[in-house]
Amino acid sequence: MTWEATWWVDGRNHGVAPISPITRHAEVQQPASRVFLCPHCGEVWARIAVPGASWFAVSHSCRRCPRYLGYPSGTLCLWDTELLEDLPRVLLVREFELYAKWIKEHGNGRY
Ligand SMILES: [Zn+2]
Repeated sequence: MTWEATWWVDGRNHGVAPISPITRHAEVQQPASRVFLCPHCGEVWARIAVPGASWFAVSHSCRRCPRYLGYPSGTLCLWDTELLEDLPRVLLVREFELYAKWIKEHGNGRY
């Protein structure tokens, strides 16, 4: 079974795209809807809405605030490689650009 999600990031609706189910305890389940909440300024800067799914909050810095837990600010795919595979192309490019910028700024190994 597949699900569709609507992707909003930085105030823009990036449309509807498929999202993979999650597997928990050897059971395939509907993916959760997610909100990305900035722990510094309180802004909800991204939403991944799966119709009928419960909401799960991810605490992670928006693009304007300092990085959080060692990840670049404003990135969606922290430790979630399943989500990385589901990103619509435009958001995958956005993710790449944010990581490339972060590596360029912190490329000396001191981050
Ligand atoms: Zn913020």
